[in-house]
Amino acid sequence: MSVLRPSLVRSNPPGRRVAFVAVGAVVAVTLAVGLWAVMFVQAGVLAAPYAPRVDDGFLAEPVTLGDADVAAISNLDPALLAAVREAEAAASVDGVSFEVTSGWRTARYQQWLLEDAVKKYGSTEIALQWVAAPDRSHHVTGRAVDIGPLDAQSWLIAHGAAWGLCQIYANERWHFELATEPGGACPALLENAAG
Ligand SMILES: [Zn+2]
Repeated sequence: MSVLRPSLVRSNPPGRRVAFVAVGAVVAVTLAVGLWAVMFVQAGVLAAPYAPRVDDGFLAEPVTLGDADVAAISNLDPALLAAVREAEAAASVDGVSFEVTSGWRTARYQQWLLEDAVKKYGSTEIALQWVAAPDRSHHVTGRAVDIGPLDAQSWLIAHGAAWGLCQIYANERWHFELATEPGGACPALLENAAG
């Protein structure tokens, strides 16, 4: 403070000057941190990793066909949903209840499932036998539904064709699509989702 010229001290008292410098420093640091944050987010460094949400069709637990407010159900193809509901009504007479373990999914969620399967199986080729690519999956178009539990799967495999519902893949007894006219014959099973 002793080096300050008298005129400066008079017009700008030391206390106020220190406060002014302090505020300026805070503003500068805030701007710098903000700029870095923007740069990192743009670079994807700080962006949270993708995790599927209910709005993507993600189901933490099985739901029923009556859960019409859940995206996995509400975004199904109406014809498929109607057919599965009619089949479920008939199955209930036999004491069988349906659960939906997966329905409609966003392409992003489908991609996430595929990437997860690649990690699990250690190869894209094997993963594609279980999880179709987003541009091939009928879950993404709402034209496929996964049904559980086991007795419901067995019932649908035996009776689903009456409503046009067919198992499609030999390795996925839970996955059903509309694949024939009601009362028609289901097409031959494909070996897997890559087939
Ligand atoms: Zn499926």
